[in-house]
Amino acid sequence: MNYSEDELLPISALADIVFCERRAALHRLEEIWQESVATIEGHHLHDKVHAGESESRGAVRIARGLRLRSLRLGLSGVADVFEFHRLEQGAEGIVLPDVSGRWIPFPVEYKRGVVRHEESFECQLCAQAVCMEEMLNCRIPAGALFYGLSRRRKDILFTNELRHGTEEAAILLHQVVNAGITPPARYEKKCEKCSLLSQCMPKTAGGGKSAAAWLSAQLEL
Ligand code: SF4
Repeated sequence: MNYSEDELLPISALADIVFCERRAALHRLEEIWQESVATIEGHHLHDKVHAGESESRGAVRIARGLRLRSLRLGLSGVADVFEFHRLEQGAEGIVLPDVSGRWIPFPVEYKRGVVRHEESFECQLCAQAVCMEEMLNCRIPAGALFYGLSRRRKDILFTNELRHGTEEAAILLHQVVNAGITPPARYEKKCEKCSLLSQCMPKTAGGGKSAAAWLSAQLEL
């Protein structure tokens, strides 16, 4: 089943839902946004990347701020960078306008901080690849996450497992948005790096905590 253009959700919301279902719902359903130093630095990094010119470096062509969409995943967004790598003669790849040879797209998503494993980032990058595959009718085997602080990039292979996880996350995102119900908070270690921590209050209002238990704990203070 394909989604219609009107049903498309942002690729960035996919990263949210992989990180935490409640976070995605707070953003998409309740329109709660909270900037932190981390999110502001992230916006600046993306603005800087998108403001750059398209360029050509040897066997690599670089395009910035490409609009993407996948009707199969029901997602749309703007990619930070898509590199196009020239392939060996005879290899299968896409054709680019006004240049000879065959090319393979390679998405690069910019993140602040230092190199680390973040499943949500990998799914976001994979979704960009799936969008481009659908738009250009090609297969993209890998991409990279570029970390601004360490200025290092980490290559990500789009394995069947990652593709499956990305598709499942897209389905879940549409289910949560269509249901219109924000899941209850549940405190986990990851909450400490969530920009919505102060609005979400997972320690006091987390799932399974009754109002009476919360009141009793407050009165004992
Ligand atoms: S604070 Fe925790 S539970 Fe609340 S939205 Fe963030 S990650 Fe999810």
